[in-house]
Amino acid sequence: MPLEKSDAFMLKAFNWSESSRTVIFFTREFGKLALVDKGGRRVSGKRGRLMPFARMELTFHISEKSSRGYVSDSDLLELYEFQLEGSLGRLAYASAACELLNLLLPEGEPLPSLFTYTTSFFEKTNSVDRRSLPALFVTFFLRLLSQLGYHPSLGYCIGCGLSWEESSPDNGTVAFSPERGGYVCPSCQRVAEYYIWLSSGGYRLLTRLQTCSLDEASLMPIGYQDCSLMLDLLTRFLSYQAGVSGDLKSLEFLEKLKNSQLGPDKG
Ligand SMILES: [Zn+2]
Repeated sequence: MPLEKSDAFMLKAFNWSESSRTVIFFTREFGKLALVDKGGRRVSGKRGRLMPFARMELTFHISEKSSRGYVSDSDLLELYEFQLEGSLGRLAYASAACELLNLLLPEGEPLPSLFTYTTSFFEKTNSVDRRSLPALFVTFFLRLLSQLGYHPSLGYCIGCGLSWEESSPDNGTVAFSPERGGYVCPSCQRVAEYYIWLSSGGYRLLTRLQTCSLDEASLMPIGYQDCSLMLDLLTRFLSYQAGVSGDLKSLEFLEKLKNSQLGPDKG
């Protein structure tokens, strides 16, 4: 088996014996990759330990046959400790990001620009003011969806193409259909269709987060109510468009996150 090296994040680990496990990584050069970690659960191993929420230089043998490759060594490049104020919230958002990546990344397809973007997301989640965390996460979520081909149509009606600003009543609410995958103007709305309703202010913020950088997002604090609706909108969109069932752990996790981590005085 050839020996390879790549920058990597751990996304998930499955233990299958006292000392060994399978670890899912997001690597810069190989995309999502599952590798066997023999003896990696022992604390006293000679090689570098695998750390969650860290960028590592991973050395591994890649399998040319169907069996899994395995981890040979790892060097810690950057550890995100989430020790600033709001550390529980930081950890929760970073965990949710790992779950989404694990859920959505295609296996073995290199996505170097998304890898770089994920690196900045972790750096910022580790360093920004905690009030910026929700906007940062929503922006990451939107970017991830778009890069992987699940782009929600926020700006224009999914039925007729009118822009939301021209077709929504001033200071009214804006309808988003997770099933149709976008904004639905008043004339295209159907009786008994399910919509998530955002205030026009909240919706405007969401459309801005879809195109802004992580730096810009960290200057746009979102209120509890808006953020809760945005996460609801994105997770429901995801379950329709990516064909993932609603009881997935990451979705439940986000639900918990909404209830516990987004309040102005929490985390
Ligand atoms: Zn329409």
